[in-house]
Amino acid sequence: MLRKNWYTSNRIAFALVFFFYTNSFPQTHRTATATAQVTVTDPMSSSSDIVSALLKHGLSEQQAYQNLAELTGTIGGRLSGSPQAAKAVKWGEALMKKLGFQNVRLQHVMVPHWVRGKVEKAWIVGRKGRKNIPLAMCALGGSIATPKKGITAEVIEVHSLAEAKALGSEAKGKIIFFNRPMDPTLISTFAAYGRAVDQRGGGASAAASVGGVGALIRSMTLVVDDVPHTGVMYYQDSIPKVPTAALSTVAANRLSEELKRNPHLRVHFALDCKTLPDVQSANVIGELAGTEFPNEVVVMGGHLDSWDKGKGAHDDGAGVTQSIEALRLIKELGLKPKRTIRVVLFMNEENGSRGGEGYAAQLPSKEKAVAAIESDAGGFDPRTFGVSADSSVFQKIASWASLLEPTDICSMRRGGGGEDISYLKDKGAALIGLVPSNQRYFDFHHSDKDVLANVNSRELELGAIAMASLAYFISEEGL
Ligand SMILES: [Zn+2]
Repeated sequence: MLRKNWYTSNRIAFALVFFFYTNSFPQTHRTATATAQVTVTDPMSSSSDIVSALLKHGLSEQQAYQNLAELTGTIGGRLSGSPQAAKAVKWGEALMKKLGFQNVRLQHVMVPHWVRGKVEKAWIVGRKGRKNIPLAMCALGGSIATPKKGITAEVIEVHSLAEAKALGSEAKGKIIFFNRPMDPTLISTFAAYGRAVDQRGGGASAAASVGGVGALIRSMTLVVDDVPHTGVMYYQDSIPKVPTAALSTVAANRLSEELKRNPHLRVHFALDCKTLPDVQSANVIGELAGTEFPNEVVVMGGHLDSWDKGKGAHDDGAGVTQSIEALRLIKELGLKPKRTIRVVLFMNEENGSRGGEGYAAQLPSKEKAVAAIESDAGGFDPRTFGVSADSSVFQKIASWASLLEPTDICSMRRGGGGEDISYLKDKGAALIGLVPSNQRYFDFHHSDKDVLANVNSRELELGAIAMASLAYFISEEGL
């Protein structure tokens, strides 16, 4: 059980006293101090006191949001390989040092370097003297450019990769338009995303496999507006490369309507994006070393890179600043974890995962990866943790759910994790993903709307507090 080892822990009592003397809510002092004293005499209440202390401290200071404001405000979008990503690495390192984390270091990895370029234009070619109809679009990450004069061709609308591949010779010389929306009837927007995103990832190669000259993809969002959403795409080596871009949902609907009226309409689009040689970048790492088992490590992390549309606020400035804030709170309370609690800001989740892969590959053999907690689902109100671990480990983690209720977490869910930490599976770590409310995530995801103004400071902080609580429980009890 989590609580028993804390019974005689003077350290915890000290930590709580330290906190309650320094917290900024004098009106809660009496109650809080009374609660703190309970930790010395009543083991059953000590862990919930830790959560209370983290909660009060976090909500009174809300530094996750302040850090997110700085990251998004002074650096902004930070695509792998870009100068902004390099700045973000320096920012993360400096912040961890300023906060007094231990063993702050960079772990170098090579990352892809795709550049969007300046030209992103698309329109439906106007019929006989009529005006062109502009279509809001943006290149998908990894796409090649169009020829300089752009591509102008007839369009075939499809709703799946299979439908595109079945077009045969009909597709030759055409632009293939993938327009299967995310399913709005699914309660999980991540499930809806998962069932639609194959069009973005594989649309270009599916189009090219039957002679298509380009692929336009309906943006991965449930909102109908005129903002295109980018994201990664992949070319199959054996198939010629054709350029590919996302249309806003308004543009996709318009194109679909116009195609019904005139199946032979032509679309023009132009891109000048390109892929440059890989560049060196880094994961940023800092920790509080374990006092009893320093080689047993609990990771908290998010990814430091983002897409270049928007400012990477929810994706994944939220996870980055929550992870840093979680460790800051543990440190501020004077808690001394038995196992090492480590923050890792992973580089290159969006278009290569070289950071996640590199972290796992460079793990020292003496080190035991106990658990990894990733936040990469937006900075919204936390709901649960998704846990991938064997049954007994899951049960142990699930038994702590009631302690997390004050942070809005009220249960633990089987299955979860995150892209960056997935590489730790083979190292035996329990993989845990922070799961916030997901209804609004894809309104902003990978678009110009992923900005600070769409993040709520309290919701963001609650996620950090939940991560801090869970990481600390694991550090004390092991798994
Ligand atoms: Zn992400």
